[in-house]
Amino acid sequence: MGERYFANPYDDYDEKTHGKEENQLVARESVLELIKKYVDIIQQNVNSKMRDDLYVGIAGIAFMFWKLAQSDETKHMFPCLELASKYIGEAKHRSREKRDKSSKNAVAFLCGGSGIAAVSAAIANEMGKLQEMENDLESFLQGCPPCTNVKGTDADEVLVGRAGYLHGASWLNQAITPKPIENEAISEICQTLIKRGRSVAHSLRLAFPLMYEYHEKAYLGAAHGVCAILHALLESPWFDRDATDRFSGSPTKLTDIKSTIDYVLTLQDGDGNFPTRIDSNRMLVHWCHGCGGAIYLFAKAFLTFREDKYLDCCRKCADELWRHGLLRKGPGICHGVAGNGYAFLLMYRLTGEKRYLYRAVKFAEFLNSSSFASVLLAPDRPFSLYEGLAGTVCFLVDLLTPMRSSFPFMDVFERKCV
Ligand SMILES: [Zn+2]
Repeated sequence: MGERYFANPYDDYDEKTHGKEENQLVARESVLELIKKYVDIIQQNVNSKMRDDLYVGIAGIAFMFWKLAQSDETKHMFPCLELASKYIGEAKHRSREKRDKSSKNAVAFLCGGSGIAAVSAAIANEMGKLQEMENDLESFLQGCPPCTNVKGTDADEVLVGRAGYLHGASWLNQAITPKPIENEAISEICQTLIKRGRSVAHSLRLAFPLMYEYHEKAYLGAAHGVCAILHALLESPWFDRDATDRFSGSPTKLTDIKSTIDYVLTLQDGDGNFPTRIDSNRMLVHWCHGCGGAIYLFAKAFLTFREDKYLDCCRKCADELWRHGLLRKGPGICHGVAGNGYAFLLMYRLTGEKRYLYRAVKFAEFLNSSSFASVLLAPDRPFSLYEGLAGTVCFLVDLLTPMRSSFPFMDVFERKCV
């Protein structure tokens, strides 16, 4: 295990030594310098060999520029929206060239067509190009009907399955006003997810109600596993509260979702981590596998059910990320230092405790350290949104306004009921 991460060289937060105000904790000038440096490297390396998608393709670069345009401190560093528009245009062009009119591509968010359409809609909205936005939304909505019936061993998770589409729909409803995706469409997809989950749990003879598989493996983590699928279900209109503070969804479905979350909670080990699969002891400290991604489910569960056990679980995840989260796999958000740093920003928003902002700051500092330089460009796609520097830039932008931060497409705090 020692091979996977750098020993954390920093002292943990101590109120007496580090008890500064938020704006003193974050060294804004160095963060801005690092953003500039990384964006310059990315721009020099975007090329025609990149894929079209959000995960490691050119649409992810467009998303990064959209993100830069959201912050007052970074929006004038580059012509952000113009570049976002240029790159998403290229992504759409490459996507069209593939002539992939399959249902799967219409559903796939992080690694497919619906993600490109969604980010394009948000960029067009920001630029006031309303006709283009309408066209993009129409293209995104083409994924809705297949989301309720697409089958296969990869049809449910976040990278190419319906849970990713649901996270994309929630994100669009946060990014565009009035919210463009209707509750009915979201509920129908959630209904399919419940059916699929019950059927897999039944066939595996599990003692809890819902489970999902990706290529016949029952993963737990955020990328292919049940954590981000349950999180997508918690974002559904079923968890809107009515005038008497009750959830609007049917009690059977809500009980199945909550019982499954409570089962996953029992799998947290003494260090605070989760295994990669229900039938495995393998432990990774990533967003894609392990506590770096599971923490979003439990943060959402805490906000939804208001039970302290979920917050305790998040604290344990964050402690494990602090101990073992300085990964040697590079800077990215899927299995890298910025991805784990994002969990501290989540915890800072959730609790307001400066300990977590301090930890996020230290992870950002480590990105710029000499020990980390040898692995900065180690990932296969070192400039991309999920594996490389583009996601790292998003983390640094969020570090400047931590109370508005959110891991891409996974904002647990926003809840739009109108
Ligand atoms: Zn990963």
